[in-house]
Amino acid sequence: MNGREEEYSYLLERLRRSNWRLTAQRRAVAEVLSGPDIHLTAEEVLSRAKEVLPEISRATVYNTLKELTDRGELEEVQIFPGPVHYDPNAVVRHHHLVCSRCGKIMDIQPYGLDSLELPPEARDGFRLEQIDVIFRGMCEECA
Ligand SMILES: [Zn+2]
Ligand SMILES: [Zn+2]
Repeated sequence: MNGREEEYSYLLERLRRSNWRLTAQRRAVAEVLSGPDIHLTAEEVLSRAKEVLPEISRATVYNTLKELTDRGELEEVQIFPGPVHYDPNAVVRHHHLVCSRCGKIMDIQPYGLDSLELPPEARDGFRLEQIDVIFRGMCEECA
């Protein structure tokens, strides 16, 4: 990491500064989703949150994930094949590196995407809203 973390703050810190009521349960969910390169499925969030707060329920975890997604604090990342991953790096627009062996997902801000354009004749009337790029390969440990 090259100081990229300093460009944005992690989820728990953002929530502390917002007016969102941080109950113990919500805190446990936010805690496991704070840090760099975090992309967890709902079930992964549940099992990690249980380590922090054993009495936390599945319904609470799912409701909290939905609420945080609706608030724009989490982004849903779907890399096929596979379930939705919750990404707390919702502040900085980024793309993903995915290891095709272990499935690890890492954030990346590639160069050159700003110059990507749809040819004018493509898909008449199509209104482009977002471009998602996935770089697939093997992570350091797997290569
Ligand atoms: Zn790997
Ligand atoms: Zn990400």
